Amino acid sequence: GTLSVASMLAESAVRTPTRPALHFMGRTIDYGTLWDESRAYAGALRDRGIGRGDRVAMLVPNVPDFPRVYYAALALGAVVVPVHLLFKAEEIAYVLRDSGADVLIAAGPLLVEAVPAAASAGVPLVTVLTPPVESGGPDLPRLEAEAAASAPIERHVSVRPTDAATILYTSGTTGTPKGAVGSHLAIVEQVHCALIDAFDMRADDVVFGGLPLFHTFGQTAVMNIAFRKGASIILLPKFDPDQALDLMNAHGATVFTAVPTMFVGMVEAAARADSTPPLRYAVSGGAALPVALLEAFERAYGAEVHEGYGLTETSPTVSFNMVGEPIRPGTVGRTYWGIDAAIADSEIEGRIVFLDGPEALGEIVVRGHNLFKGYLGRPDASAEAVVDGWFRTGDLGTIVDGIITIVDRKKDMIVRNGYNVYPTEVEAVMMRHPDVAMAAVFGVADDTHGQEVHAAVVALDGHEVDPEALVAFTRERIAAYKYPRVVHVTDSLPLGGSGKVLKRQLVEQYSPVTA
Ligand code: ATP
Repeated sequence: GTLSVASMLAESAVRTPTRPALHFMGRTIDYGTLWDESRAYAGALRDRGIGRGDRVAMLVPNVPDFPRVYYAALALGAVVVPVHLLFKAEEIAYVLRDSGADVLIAAGPLLVEAVPAAASAGVPLVTVLTPPVESGGPDLPRLEAEAAASAPIERHVSVRPTDAATILYTSGTTGTPKGAVGSHLAIVEQVHCALIDAFDMRADDVVFGGLPLFHTFGQTAVMNIAFRKGASIILLPKFDPDQALDLMNAHGATVFTAVPTMFVGMVEAAARADSTPPLRYAVSGGAALPVALLEAFERAYGAEVHEGYGLTETSPTVSFNMVGEPIRPGTVGRTYWGIDAAIADSEIEGRIVFLDGPEALGEIVVRGHNLFKGYLGRPDASAEAVVDGWFRTGDLGTIVDGIITIVDRKKDMIVRNGYNVYPTEVEAVMMRHPDVAMAAVFGVADDTHGQEVHAAVVALDGHEVDPEALVAFTRERIAAYKYPRVVHVTDSLPLGGSGKVLKRQLVEQYSPVTA
């Protein structure tokens, strides 16, 4: 009982103890076992003094220890702080201090960064997946050993729905990571909206689990939803398209949830493979899914792709192309139950000015049960982000008959000679070219035009991109002020830990060096 995120695992363990929860490296772990292991970890954490409201930071990849630790902490009424796996010691230490972490649970392979971080923040460090001490790893306390010596907890503690469940760090527009505090209620409501209206998840579904679980998208749209339903997840610590396809074939994956860059890899992998898994549908989110890519995936896998839109601060889904309704490619569908979205003037500060009518293009603002509780210890940033109960997303878009279209991020918009250029639109056109796998469009400071439109492009497997031909192709299809003046052909695009293209890094990389 009680409205706790811990129930996602706890209650499926009671209902379907022998059903598979995880497929990982050739092993299958059933719900009963996973919850027993999680309750044992919780016993160890309780004996360390962790209880309601305490903060458990974790630096754990997509391995069974992620859900074990995550639900153990939540079962104690503690707040989980999953740390970005690519963070270096200084960044981890920042998160530990900022979140007031009471303990850091780190996986063996990440100790190089975790050890100095924990030392500098003065936070006790416990390991999981520990490499043997003989291998030179430091002689740290191990959660598994502590669990063996502790009594497991019997049941999860009772929390208030509005209590904090997670603190997820997001860099947002400013650069310094801010801890978005998410409540049990927001996550539980998300899961139920997805299961009732959006996802059509079944208990016998086998869900691809390659999205990083430290990020809100993987955590809730994959793990919490699948566990609530009693479905199983194929856990993948590191995304590799061919390996992902093999595993999905081996386990008969029926649901593929990913960010667009993963869709690119899966389309190429399918072209090399003899068979594809029995997918019922796919879910895309986290960044714009070009229509050409959606169509290529549907052709390769024979499954419809449902695009949704969300943010860390909205726990995460705002809107979705619901399963069972007509899909509108290029849009992010309509809002989940109980969530409102509106278009507001993005220039006005301090109060929300709504823009009405189908032509209105402005900043998307959101209110509802899915909103975060604020940024931890940042009342100013919180007050700036949430105005009159509406969260300002920083995304530009339109809403027509309830259907939301994302035009771009406010901060990614390029202004060339006073004209607004939305990179997403240009990328979608470039990705229709038969040689192009990925295109990322960004603005580079320019003395003549203010900003110049650049594109970094990756060729499809076995193809070559001719920059001039690609510029000509794009120029034929969009207005003259929008097409990229400079095309950089590259082997790969810089991706963040959640698989999104890092535009800031491209801007730096391709900006002229100024003395
Ligand atoms: P960081 O923490 O590195 O700043 P982030 O800003 O990407 O990451 P997230 O909360 O992970 O933070 O992502 C939210 C953003 O992702 C949204 O504001 C939006 O710009 C983008 N996004 C999510 N889904 C879509 C979509 N379907 N189409 C276009 N953009 C999307």
